[in-house]
Amino acid sequence: MTHPNQRDAPLTHITEHGNGQVILHIVCPHCGRAHSHGGGRDLSIARDFLGHRASSCTALHGYVLTDPDGLLP
Ligand SMILES: [Zn+2]
Repeated sequence: MTHPNQRDAPLTHITEHGNGQVILHIVCPHCGRAHSHGGGRDLSIARDFLGHRASSCTALHGYVLTDPDGLLP
């Protein structure tokens, strides 16, 4: 079984806010709810923000942000 910290959290969509702030949206593999993480200040570098993150819902486990559908440039 995959260690809980290494479970994939695929991007569901991305949004851009004021000043180009990118937000990465995922469905949590631990609680099943939507969480979001900062993706930097420009879409062109948002891919650098994939990878392991602490989850928003539990201090015990994180997950790995992935982009299987190629949402990011
Ligand atoms: Zn969660």
